[in-house]
Amino acid sequence: APEKLSDIVTSFLDIVHDRLISDRRGAVADYIPQLAGADPELFGIALCGLNGRVYESGDTGVDFTIQSASKPFVYSLALDDQGLDAVHDRVGAEPSGEAFNSVKLEAGTGRPPNPMVNAGAIVTTSLVSGRSPEERFGRILARLSAFAGRDLSVDEAVLASEQESGDRNRALAYLMRGAGSLTAPVAETLDTYFRQCSVLVTARDIAVMGATLANGGVNPVTGQRVTSAETCQHVMTIMATCGMYDYAGEWLLRAGLPAKSGVAGGLVASSPGEFGLGLFSPRLDASGASVRGVAAAQQLATRFGLHVLHRP
Ligand code: GLU
Repeated sequence: APEKLSDIVTSFLDIVHDRLISDRRGAVADYIPQLAGADPELFGIALCGLNGRVYESGDTGVDFTIQSASKPFVYSLALDDQGLDAVHDRVGAEPSGEAFNSVKLEAGTGRPPNPMVNAGAIVTTSLVSGRSPEERFGRILARLSAFAGRDLSVDEAVLASEQESGDRNRALAYLMRGAGSLTAPVAETLDTYFRQCSVLVTARDIAVMGATLANGGVNPVTGQRVTSAETCQHVMTIMATCGMYDYAGEWLLRAGLPAKSGVAGGLVASSPGEFGLGLFSPRLDASGASVRGVAAAQQLATRFGLHVLHRP
């Protein structure tokens, strides 16, 4: 009997998983004990099709904090609240060529380089509407949950450690206050930013989140419209150019998909009109992205000819 498509997809995910499980390069993030204590062997690959089917291999149900993979989704909310021009009066749209926590601000305007590096994400978070910090974070959590298709929650222990160890992010926020790109109060903006980084997800969740972007803003599992197709286009553009920090150029060359890494080992990628990919493995490379996640995404993209600029 002919193999079902779902079996073919799942067995290819298993092949990639088995091939990369012996790759032990990189190191688990250690700036807070909760991340340093992660099991480095965990590895999950999830793919969510635009029909809402999710294919999984490995540790796809294990919780980890979303960290910087929250940034594109919070950026979508800032865009919907303020519009493209108002957001980009305050944050640039250029790859920085520097690390995620770079202090480089644009001469003259004081804008951080883009919404995917920490400085730019802090400004983006400050642009989410709300009458109080509670309301602002409530809207962020609701947006992340709508993308994932289930109610997400915050890891309070990670949040407390992020607060305690977040001086560099705090310093970035003060620099931007001084430069005029951040106008909201530093303490509550940072609190909201650390909260958004501490939201718990699984590889399966971020695959659905990526698929919602790939599907023009409608969650393919729940059928809910989360945002507009235009916003998804803007978000995926910034992910494609800036999502992988100082590896963004080479990433686009080799994988060719809009993507965002997180320091806990999550990696979300979107193949527009095709599917979302959620990867999780805690060991990171020099640019702060999951070693196995990057390799798996590149292998899947190559195998299926998924590069966004691919024209057969
Ligand atoms: N919470 C981390 C920070 O702001 C996120 C960095 C990342 O995931 O790349 O430093």
